[in-house]
Amino acid sequence: MDFNQDTFARIVDSLHDGLYFVDRNRCITYWNKAAERITGYTSEEVLGRSCADNILTHVDADGNHLCTGVCPLAATIADGTARSSEIYLHHKDGHRIPISVRTSILTDTAGSVIGGIELFTDISNQAATRLRIRELEKMALIDKLTELPNRYYLEKELHNKFQEKKRLNFPLGILFIDIDHFKKFNDTYGHDVGDRVLACVAKTFTANSRPFDIYGRWGGEEFIGILHIATGDDMEHLADRLRMLVQNSYIMHEEKRLIVTVSIGATILRDDDTIESLIKRADGLLYESKQAGRNRYSFSP
Ligand code: GH3
Ligand code: MG
Ligand code: MG
Repeated sequence: MDFNQDTFARIVDSLHDGLYFVDRNRCITYWNKAAERITGYTSEEVLGRSCADNILTHVDADGNHLCTGVCPLAATIADGTARSSEIYLHHKDGHRIPISVRTSILTDTAGSVIGGIELFTDISNQAATRLRIRELEKMALIDKLTELPNRYYLEKELHNKFQEKKRLNFPLGILFIDIDHFKKFNDTYGHDVGDRVLACVAKTFTANSRPFDIYGRWGGEEFIGILHIATGDDMEHLADRLRMLVQNSYIMHEEKRLIVTVSIGATILRDDDTIESLIKRADGLLYESKQAGRNRYSFSP
């Protein structure tokens, strides 16, 4: 296969591994995109410079400085033998990154050695670690299905609100929301369709919440809203609007519109409340809404 220069550049730039070429004086003549990403140095910063020149300054596990001592790349250029090892490179930000290195010679068309190639892999697992942290953050605080804050987050948030209660110069409203006859919905349409409707209801909450309000999933088909309100009237208005919006949300299933309704218990944080007493009152109000026929809210300050 004959590659032109551009094709070759595109291929090596798409590698996950860092790749660079040096000439016989160990001056860097090529530096790919992954090398930029792993080391923090752009190709403009390194081309024409020696890799020992405060750039990579590799050290081995014993702290030996390879660039001024036994550089594997220099050894490969000298004897033509490919080498591999695990060493530590210097990142532009200062820290050391463990890499696995493979070196080989670079020859011209006549076969003479004109330099060396180093291919290196980031073995620090940093990408995986970052990904895991993000996953953990999400798992710890966000409910996967609905992408709403989860119960753990809600409890923390309520706790914070209780702490700052004295400084809050407006009442804090709590909505306890439960989907009506959801068991029947699942039994009729299946759990997956039930999941879709849960996510849909959750989106209706978040799409219609004001910037300082928080809606989260308390568990199952139960949700809690923590709202900054001005008055009890305000609270009733919000609760009923939310109820109405859910009733008017629908998912399509086999060309049919499917809806669910919610019942709501709405109350306002009192000075002597604990999280337990607050939730209990809201839950009691929710129960009143269920008893009264569902698809409604009950409010008590
Ligand atoms: P009510 O109007 O009295 O609230 O009746 P309900 O059927 O909604 O109440 P019940 O507590 O008996 O049932 C709740 C149902 O919610 C049962 C459970 O299968 C369903 N459910 C809970 N979590 C999920 C979920 O993540 N996905 C789906 N699809 N269903 C869920
Ligand atoms: Mg329930
Ligand atoms: Mg229910």
